[in-house]
Amino acid sequence: MTPDIHTLTGAYAADALSDDERRSFEAHLDECDACAQEVAELQATAAMLGAASFEPPPPSLRDAVLAEIDQVRQEPPAVPSADERPAARSRPAVRPPGRCDGGPPTWRCPRPRSW
Ligand SMILES: [Zn+2]
Repeated sequence: MTPDIHTLTGAYAADALSDDERRSFEAHLDECDACAQEVAELQATAAMLGAASFEPPPPSLRDAVLAEIDQVRQEPPAVPSADERPAARSRPAVRPPGRCDGGPPTWRCPRPRSW
């Protein structure tokens, strides 16, 4: 059962919709002034609640983090598997013997030697 789209204002304001729901609701917002106003009010309220509940961390937290950080092993870099790696850059085709012009631009022609 699909919920009435007008009831998604709270979930939208709290960024709790799936991508599909969010896209549908944003299209609805363009057409529904009541929902647009309610979302604006909910987002303003959420911002005020967040500001009201913010407390700076105690200074001892920084010292504790810095004291422990040397004990944390860094994760290795993510290495893509062979299937995930981009294909190796292909080398240009080698020109057929005796042809140095008139071929595709990917042909390699040897430079004249100076000796
Ligand atoms: Zn609406």
